[in-house]
Amino acid sequence: MKELHFLSQLTGCLASPVDENPSVAMVEAAYKHHGLNFRYINIEVGPDKLGEVVAGARAMGWVGFNCSLPNKVAVIQYLDGLGESAALIGAVNCAVMRDGKLIGENTDGKGFLQSLAEVRDPSGKSVVMFGAGGAARAIGVELALAGAAKIIVVNRDPKRGQEVVDLINTKTGTSAELVTWNSTYSIPNEVEIIINATSIGLFPDVNANLNISFDSLRSGVVVADVIPNPPTTNLLREAKSRGCITLDGLGMLVNQGVVGIKYWTGIDADPTVMRKALEDIFS
Ligand code: NDP
Repeated sequence: MKELHFLSQLTGCLASPVDENPSVAMVEAAYKHHGLNFRYINIEVGPDKLGEVVAGARAMGWVGFNCSLPNKVAVIQYLDGLGESAALIGAVNCAVMRDGKLIGENTDGKGFLQSLAEVRDPSGKSVVMFGAGGAARAIGVELALAGAAKIIVVNRDPKRGQEVVDLINTKTGTSAELVTWNSTYSIPNEVEIIINATSIGLFPDVNANLNISFDSLRSGVVVADVIPNPPTTNLLREAKSRGCITLDGLGMLVNQGVVGIKYWTGIDADPTVMRKALEDIFS
């Protein structure tokens, strides 16, 4: 006779469309690598049925789930509380069952920061961040919580840009300013970290370029792109050819997965196994 264990712990991603979301391959690769009896499944759901799905997840004893578009804000009403940065950002991409309470976290910015930490500490640094959407909001808040001195938000739509600037200025100790992006932008000399948090360069529009002076990218500055597909964007190619330190969007994606897995399982997942799973998909 042998003791049998066939009850899996459940996690997944609630999004629409979810069919194209590759996180499942990366997370399942980590579960398998670490011998965890956990599963991660993609669930096609939008805000209309989200409440029922979250109630179902609670009833089935899920340990947590990711949320992607269009559910990152809508999910908050079905949760029992929010972590610090998720509350500031106003969006949740990861829910975690803690002591019977479903708590909303935002791992997008944390994943970015973890990826950035491999090459530079943002504390006391000046940053230029292109974009003011969901990804930019998450990254901006985490950079501020990590002690960035100044964040210049460069965005096409000034209203959206101002909202991120106001959030950082009023809720964190970092100073933020807006540049409305209506002409070719040159990176100021004092800037040490440059981030593309827009969707420019995302498949299928892979030849799109940021409207910036590439010659203002100084050697030694960090240039990070959030675009995961393709991982090597025109921005990163231009930056690399000028001696910049580059970070691709897979790093952010992998690290937000590492943070989520830590929340759900308590283990530190191996990022190289997760990155390999994504590279196999995008190659
Ligand atoms: P949003 O739609 O919320 O925001 C898009 C942003 O891109 C806005 O600031 C928008 O400017 C800007 N933008 C889009 N097209 C242009 C253009 N042609 N010229 C200038 N600005 C433009 O998207 P998200 O913030 O959710 O996502 C942005 C990117 O981040 C996506 O490509 C997504 O794949 C990626 N991402 C990557 C993650 C990772 O782990 N690697 C995690 C999350 C997101 P405006 O406000 O003026 O419209």
